[in-house]
Amino acid sequence: MPRALCIGELLIDFVSTTPDVTLADAPGFVKAPGGAPANVAVGLAKLGVDAGFIGKVGADPFGDFLTETLQQNSVDTAYLIAGETSRTTLAFVATRSDGMKDITFYRHPGADIQLSPDEIDADYIQSAALFHYGSVSLSHSPTREATLKAIQCAKSAGAFISYDPNLRLMLWDNPDEARHWIWEMMPFADVVKISEEEWEFITGDVELPRGIERILGLDVKLLVVTLGERGCYFTNGNANGYVEGFTVEVVDTLGAGDAFVAAMLSRLIKHTDLTSLNTDQLESIMRYANAAGALATQKVGVIPSLPTPQEIKQFLS
Ligand code: ADP
Repeated sequence: MPRALCIGELLIDFVSTTPDVTLADAPGFVKAPGGAPANVAVGLAKLGVDAGFIGKVGADPFGDFLTETLQQNSVDTAYLIAGETSRTTLAFVATRSDGMKDITFYRHPGADIQLSPDEIDADYIQSAALFHYGSVSLSHSPTREATLKAIQCAKSAGAFISYDPNLRLMLWDNPDEARHWIWEMMPFADVVKISEEEWEFITGDVELPRGIERILGLDVKLLVVTLGERGCYFTNGNANGYVEGFTVEVVDTLGAGDAFVAAMLSRLIKHTDLTSLNTDQLESIMRYANAAGALATQKVGVIPSLPTPQEIKQFLS
């Protein structure tokens, strides 16, 4: 049984072959595996943490491709289900000249939101030491209930729980519902990672203090706010600080946050009490995670760019 489990979306990103276009103008697309929790599972596996992924793809060639991709990266797929009733979810992505991503999802419905609570195996989840989830799998039933059941299962078994809301507003029926469910899932988590771009939507505040107080008040032990190339901010209520990012030649920032999360978790999993970690310990972990995030920006595509421990070590030296 895997030591770490991630639940959520696994889908195909069709990425425009031409830079600087809208989706309407893009002439062609290349297929790439996508889905933040699946990226985190691969990131953990590459860092030597035995990992599994729970989710649903369609029983179709794209689902086969995604399943094989996880297997090739040593991620356990025993509970990656190939559903007969819906297609593998697709997303089409183009990057506009102002850097904004033009994204359209084909998920009406897609297999990733068809995972049902009765497909969640309590024994499989209860044997994991680390459990990670996001908010994309909360947008629709029955995957919302399946995700909730899995989180509760992991929590009651005493697993270390990690949450990266990874906001994708266009997948929700309305913004209030997204915010509601993102907060509903907060109290389960030991560590929460939020990116700067999501902070204002989630907390309703541009500044950090009130949001930090509210999140740590829900018994979250460690909160990390990632700041893109500027690195990250961390607080566990006792120790806090900023850790500067690394200056690198960026090829593609997609997946930097997932690489960051995987690297951070691969270090945090060794500690039982996150609130007792001091500033030096947390700075060292965040520096390691910043290095993984920076490395992930240096190659095209997410999975190929998720670093190994050797690559991080070499980068840091
Ligand atoms: P997300 O990818 O989830 O939106 P961020 O953009 O904040 O999250 O990136 C996550 C982490 O990846 C950052 O905290 C940083 O360590 C690293 N990172 C992201 N972009 C860059 C960049 N341009 N240069 C160096 N490091 C980066």
